[in-house]
Amino acid sequence: MAAILGCIADDFTGGTDLAGMLVKHGMRTVQMIGVPQTERCPADVDAVVIALKSRTNPASEAVRESLAALRWLQEAGCKQFYFKYCSTFDSTPQGNIGPVAEALMDALGTDFTIACPAFPANRRTIYQGYLFVGDVLLNESGMRHHPLTPMTDANLVRVLQAQVKRRVGLIDYGTVSQGSGVIDERFAALRKEGCGFAVVDALSNRDLAEIGAACASLPLVTAGSGLAVGLPENFRRKGLLAGDVVADALPATGGLRAVIAGSCSTATQGQVARMRERHPAFQVDPVKLAGGSDVAAAALEWAAERVGKEPVLIYATSAPEAVREVQAQFGAARAGELVEEALAAVARGLVELGVGQMIVAGGETSGAVVKALGIKGLRIGPEIDPGVPWTVALQTGTTHERPLALALKSGNFGTPDFFLKAWSYFS
Ligand code: ADP
Repeated sequence: MAAILGCIADDFTGGTDLAGMLVKHGMRTVQMIGVPQTERCPADVDAVVIALKSRTNPASEAVRESLAALRWLQEAGCKQFYFKYCSTFDSTPQGNIGPVAEALMDALGTDFTIACPAFPANRRTIYQGYLFVGDVLLNESGMRHHPLTPMTDANLVRVLQAQVKRRVGLIDYGTVSQGSGVIDERFAALRKEGCGFAVVDALSNRDLAEIGAACASLPLVTAGSGLAVGLPENFRRKGLLAGDVVADALPATGGLRAVIAGSCSTATQGQVARMRERHPAFQVDPVKLAGGSDVAAAALEWAAERVGKEPVLIYATSAPEAVREVQAQFGAARAGELVEEALAAVARGLVELGVGQMIVAGGETSGAVVKALGIKGLRIGPEIDPGVPWTVALQTGTTHERPLALALKSGNFGTPDFFLKAWSYFS
């Protein structure tokens, strides 16, 4: 069976979040990094998430990329499409949620969709069209100070209406609480009234399951990752999704083990400290990098002697004072770039040394590593800790012959023993 659900996420970690949710609810999922150029969709997947970096691009660029992603997903055979944005509806008055959603509707020839960023597990709920973050309204949460997408209005009907040409209506909790049949009737009523969008209230995963069921025949849904709770069941009911597959199964990977840490977030600091107590560790010094020394080569020479025996750690992670000092000396952007380049070179070298299972800590660091390794997509496997699954890089035939397992960890995710316990999946 070919892929049935095609998703477009407006950023990378948001894409991973959605992919992980789909796997958890029984869909075999791959995440493609950017719009694939020459890559084809693997045959044995149920859902594909194309992760873009379009949240804060100019709207016209976000639209262009999203339409290119849609075309690829259509060619891959997908039947329903999911535009995934952040559960805090991160956008500016110009977009990009509204313009991208409308462009996708036009391309799919549909006149109606929903907007539902609710993610109750992370305490993002919607009531009377107002988005709550925990127990405060969106505009009273930290999001009002976001540097790129400050959210100063919690009323999603108003926020979305400012971004779109079509009318925006509301499906309130009174309707949602009556279940999928009544929600579906309300879709029809809103459509008749001339609405192109329905903001939908949701307080719990049970609500999302009902909303998901009501969305069975919509060509397009727009939502946070929460709605992934409700869609897989529709495909199962239609016989499009096998009930007996293990959605998080990964191809076997062997090889040596290494951790690369370029995050200085609190969680990563603790994880680095824990791993250093047990295994050999090499610190990448930004000052030496700035001085022109080939630190990556030194790290790889060091690793070559040790990685055959046990997992090794190569890290740039430093305490906040040290990072501030380096940033004051070289500039934050330059320091970040130097470290990312070095760690990316280390990742390439480690794979050449025979590493087949690798953990990377840090969002930007992960981006740099994936790019350096020429990885175009990831098959999503079991979750190690919330939001961090094991994945296996899709083979492109040009990058590496041996399957490579990767855990790409956002800086602040994971328990203190993450770098020690993650391997147990393979043993
Ligand atoms: P996180 O997910 O924790 O935000 P990222 O990898 O996204 O981690 O960002 C961390 C940034 O800090 C990267 O650009 C990285 O290169 C940079 N960095 C890492 N170590 C140091 C250091 N010791 N001094 C300065 N910058 C550093």
